[in-house]
Amino acid sequence: MAWDPDFIDFIDAYCDRWCERCPLTHKCAAFARQEDPDEMDDCAAAVEKAMESLREELAMPPARQRPSVEELLAPPEPSEREIQDYERASRARDERQRADPMMVRAREYSVEAHLWLRMYGGATREHAERARAAGGDALEAAVVKLEADAVLEALEVVTWDSVLISGKIYRAMDGKEWAEEDESVGDDPVQLDFNGSAKLALILAERSTAAWRLIARWGPEPEVAMRFAETLARLRHDVEVAFPNARQFRRPGFDDPPSP
Ligand code: SF4
Repeated sequence: MAWDPDFIDFIDAYCDRWCERCPLTHKCAAFARQEDPDEMDDCAAAVEKAMESLREELAMPPARQRPSVEELLAPPEPSEREIQDYERASRARDERQRADPMMVRAREYSVEAHLWLRMYGGATREHAERARAAGGDALEAAVVKLEADAVLEALEVVTWDSVLISGKIYRAMDGKEWAEEDESVGDDPVQLDFNGSAKLALILAERSTAAWRLIARWGPEPEVAMRFAETLARLRHDVEVAFPNARQFRRPGFDDPPSP
């Protein structure tokens, strides 16, 4: 795969990874790599060839006589004490994040939505498909077909998003903690990685909220589907409070539409 100057840096860092529906596949190096399994080999070979020419040009000694990049960049070995301190801090951070009410709610939503979809997703899908196929009065049938199509789409959306939402919230929380300790983080309070994750969580939670409300009209246990919609609305509120700048984050490619 050749590098395309039209690729947008970091476009895949804040997307929903739903490539088959993505309008920006032609701008995405991650998608191109995924479509081209030989890409890594091609890329490594191209880099090696370029390095070889550079070595010849500069009459540098062959690579094997010089320290490797890994050796040059190798950090000093941490002491036993430093390792223990790091592990203790990581465990404490992990426990704190897992116990955070927002994270607990997000995790419970992922598990319960997954269970609902396993138990009732198939029956809801069949119901919608039967309704689509039924004939009858032309106008009424057209309306039912429209709604049935929307329900089938809603099932796909909640299935796709159910795990991603908690994953993105976790990533945002973790990233924020690291950023608060990192003195190299710049002054811009918006374009920070954790805000990008939080914004994506908000977008997913919004579309899944709408999807559950629709599913509630067609599926079994409508009160459970409505409860999922309410849980997601609460989660969105939690995320907005924890990440007040998330909405302003510009997701490369998606919030800055590239020229056609
Ligand atoms: S930006 Fe689009 S094509 Fe690239 S990984 Fe994300 S969803 Fe897939």
